[in-house]
Amino acid sequence: MENFWGEFTDKLKTTFEDIEGKSRKDLNLIKNIPSMMAMIGELEGDELLLWLDQARKIKKRRDPKFPPINGDFYDTRHVLTADDRIVIDNVRKFMLEEIEPIATEYWLKGEFPFQIIDKMKKLNIIGMAYEKEYGGQGKSQLLEGMVGEEIARVDVSTCTFFGVHSGLALNSIYLCGSEEQKKQFIPEMIRMDKIGAFALTEPDVGSAASMGLKTTCKREGDIWTLNGEKKWIGNATFADYIIVWAKDEDDHQVKGFIVDRISSGLTTEKIEDKMSLRIVQNALIKIVNVKVKEERRLQNANTFKDTARVLKMTRAGVAWQAVGCARGAYEHTLDYTMKRRQFDRPIAGFQMTQDLLAQMLSQLTAMQCLVTRLSQLQDLGAMSDEQASLAKIFCTVGCRTITSMSRELMGANGILVSNKVARFLGDAEALYSYEGTKQINSLVLGRAITGLSAFV
Ligand SMILES: Cc1cc2nc3c(=O)[nH]c(=O)nc-3n(C[C@H](O)[C@H](O)[C@H](O)COP(=O)(O)OP(=O)(O)OC[C@H]3O[C@@H](n4cnc5c(N)ncnc54)[C@H](O)[C@@H]3O)c2cc1C
Repeated sequence: MENFWGEFTDKLKTTFEDIEGKSRKDLNLIKNIPSMMAMIGELEGDELLLWLDQARKIKKRRDPKFPPINGDFYDTRHVLTADDRIVIDNVRKFMLEEIEPIATEYWLKGEFPFQIIDKMKKLNIIGMAYEKEYGGQGKSQLLEGMVGEEIARVDVSTCTFFGVHSGLALNSIYLCGSEEQKKQFIPEMIRMDKIGAFALTEPDVGSAASMGLKTTCKREGDIWTLNGEKKWIGNATFADYIIVWAKDEDDHQVKGFIVDRISSGLTTEKIEDKMSLRIVQNALIKIVNVKVKEERRLQNANTFKDTARVLKMTRAGVAWQAVGCARGAYEHTLDYTMKRRQFDRPIAGFQMTQDLLAQMLSQLTAMQCLVTRLSQLQDLGAMSDEQASLAKIFCTVGCRTITSMSRELMGANGILVSNKVARFLGDAEALYSYEGTKQINSLVLGRAITGLSAFV
């Protein structure tokens, strides 16, 4: 019987390989089948039963029934209302139909797919949490967060485009603008008829923006003159408005301005050689004697503390982006491990693979629960800076870990951008650093829990 099984299993393996992709009528051409049938025909009684038993086990190993892939293991989606879940479904459909098929191509080219803006307009997902008088829908921050997760789950660059426009630029006007400014600029930006960018970082001033920007502004009559340079500014090559933050030469406080990108003296140069978020058009901006009217100065931005109010909101948004990025990587990897076979079985069936998958899902689930609660606090108007910082740290660190485990589980295929996980892995790096690096957010958190500032 032992010899029988050795020979029979060898034939069976070759047969399975030969069978792959063949139509039913061609099965008789496969050479092993008649000889295997003859071998079975010679078996008797218990031997035949044993054969049946073994054959069933082999078949089970070959055709395992995989459960559906679910990257929302604790069902955080159901914290939303039924109406809001429809919004998420629409975003998912848009991302799968419009972005998924082109994301890798545009990421590799380092170009932005401008055709998606008109399609994205129809989703009506910009400024959803604002009041109706500004063109908003009075929806929750939680919904906005989950929309971000859903977008990043497919493509983090698209989510960053959305976050810079809907989070950084719009929130600057919403939190720091006068009533007239809000009514003038927010509705057209919500409709995406005008796109925004946010220019705080400079070539020599990143983390230390609160200590002093080099870009200056000086008022004469009702006209401000701006001079300086900004770096890393997302959407800046094509945005209609750039929110420029500059230090007042007279009172040395930071002020914000809604500047037209096409202003005389303002030039943008795309940053080309990124290994992260390649679809996002980040730019170096040169500002030489740019004239801005007083009516374009954000009337309620008087010190850097006002800029920080905007950053607090968007840090929460980045935490959601990290959840989406990690979820996309996890779901894609789980699918891969079910399809990829080594040692004659799916790699998903190996203990060490399952250990990594379990670690990834545990981390992801903790991140999802954390940001869900964070946005509930936002909706209550109770989210603190340090709570936003903690979430930004935990989720971007987790995202880095999960995307790197994804890469590991995909072996060599994991470094191919066409297999998606490499894109998530690269994109996780920018999430980790922008809107305050891990260290800067740890200092915000550390200051809150110890009462001691360790910034310098
Ligand atoms: C893809 C991308 C998009 C971006 N988009 C925008 C945008 O739209 N608008 C915008 O204004 N900016 C944008 N940024 C800039 C981003 O916010 C900055 O990169 C970030 O604030 C960090 O600044 P930095 O890169 O100059 O690093 P640095 O400040 O030079 O920091 C370098 C390292 O030193 C560490 N460090 C600095 N200070 C301390 C300290 N006190 N203690 C301990 N460690 C410290 C940092 O944590 C980091 O590890 C973007 C960046 C990227 C990568």
